[in-house]
Amino acid sequence: MTDIAIIGGGAAGAAVFGELLRRPDRQGAVHWITGCQAPGRGVAYATRDEHHLLNVRAAGMGLFADQKDDFLQHASRSLGHAQGIDFLPRRLFGEFIQAQVHARMSEAQAHGARFHLHHAKALSVQRTAESRYRIGLEHGDALTVDAAVLAIGALAPRALRTVSVEALNSGAYMLDPWNQDEPARPPRRVLVIGTGLTAVDTLISAATRWPRAELVAVSRHGLLPFRHQPVPLAPYPYQDDLNAALLACDGAAPMMRLVREAMANAPGTDWRAVIDGMRPVNAKLWQALTLAQRRQFLRHVRWAWEASRHRTAPASFETVQALIDSGRLQVHAARVLAVDGRGPLAVTVRSRATQLMSTIEADRVLQATGLDTAVAYARDPLLAQLLDEGVATPDPLQLGIAAEPDGRLLDARGQPQPRFYGIGSLLRGNLWECTAMPEIRTAANRLARALAEPGDAADLDIAARA
Ligand SMILES: Cc1cc2nc3c(=O)[nH]c(=O)nc-3n(C[C@H](O)[C@H](O)[C@H](O)COP(=O)(O)OP(=O)(O)OC[C@H]3O[C@@H](n4cnc5c(N)ncnc54)[C@H](O)[C@@H]3O)c2cc1C
Repeated sequence: MTDIAIIGGGAAGAAVFGELLRRPDRQGAVHWITGCQAPGRGVAYATRDEHHLLNVRAAGMGLFADQKDDFLQHASRSLGHAQGIDFLPRRLFGEFIQAQVHARMSEAQAHGARFHLHHAKALSVQRTAESRYRIGLEHGDALTVDAAVLAIGALAPRALRTVSVEALNSGAYMLDPWNQDEPARPPRRVLVIGTGLTAVDTLISAATRWPRAELVAVSRHGLLPFRHQPVPLAPYPYQDDLNAALLACDGAAPMMRLVREAMANAPGTDWRAVIDGMRPVNAKLWQALTLAQRRQFLRHVRWAWEASRHRTAPASFETVQALIDSGRLQVHAARVLAVDGRGPLAVTVRSRATQLMSTIEADRVLQATGLDTAVAYARDPLLAQLLDEGVATPDPLQLGIAAEPDGRLLDARGQPQPRFYGIGSLLRGNLWECTAMPEIRTAANRLARALAEPGDAADLDIAARA
């Protein structure tokens, strides 16, 4: 009999919880420690803004690896006309997750399975002398389980070091773009730091909310995400050969050469198909890189990879493009050197092209710099306890926490923790691409299978595609 705790109330936690409840033969209790927000939605699917769209086609979204078109069916029922709509509001996926979790709980209840939801944060995980895990919760509660899964997503946003305390306390600097208060007066100029997917949504919301405001976006490369094509792509015909050749490469530079050649020499194939076709091998390619090669990738390739791989829905892209074309939005390739003042804030930047410094005034500055996984700097009490007590250890490149390919977390001595797994963004150091639902639901399925076994499944590979 195995009692299991899942820590984290986002989509990854919901996927593992649901997978475990779907196994009626499983013995033992399942505890889902969801934190304080609506279970299942997490950061991505809590939004109510209809302009915030999924950046994965509806057909590719879902909670369980073996249920391919459940989300499409849910969306069709909910909208009455989802056919032909590829990129749906994220709100809808949040509702879908919650409906799935409720359905799994009702079924589990009917066949007498034991499960408990804890609407509290986990504050500590300690390994007991019997190799079980004692999990301390808010309000002084605790539970002891045989296995645990850490599904806490990326870190809460932290202010960039270039932001002065005065600016931070001014009320004009917004650390969390998803949770902003309404200013007393509509801002005349809004500056967004970042140009990735979070920035795109932030700009779209700001444009709607403050229709007269000028918008400025600043990031080092000034590169907005590329767009998805409106229709699904034909696969690159030589993808298997390309992936095999990539797996035989030594380092990120020869890999990039092969990818560029494939894109250039594939008439009739959209370059996006080449990038998408690498998805099944991305984790293995990353794992094959040495630490120095990973560092090189992060320094030289990451920005281009992120923009090409994590593309935006066509409608979001078009909205941002229209803002640029109308002159309402300016995008700068520049480094933010300082944010000062009490409002309006003075944002000092250095242009990438000219190296010249300039200052942009903005009534509101929104930090939209994307996923932060640098756990060593985190103020989160659970992560602090895990690292301080050596239960977990940071990835050497600050890409989350260190783990085995099977998802088992490594302790401070580099030893895998028996039956203590991670899932989602905090495993980026190990898997690189592990943040989107297609990867998360595959990993959840595999974790649930491993947790159903009496010991650790040593040959489990959570990066492998279902
Ligand atoms: C804005 C945005 C849009 C995205 N769009 C897409 C998309 O269209 N398609 C796609 O496939 N992916 C998308 N993603 C990727 C997304 O990260 C995943 O799809 C998925 O939502 C990740 O879920 P998660 O549970 O790992 O993390 P999170 O959503 O971050 O959830 C983690 C949860 O754990 C809770 N928590 C933290 N600490 C504790 C603790 N100590 N105790 C208990 N609970 C805790 C948090 O409060 C949070 O609710 C998007 C991501 C973002 C940020």
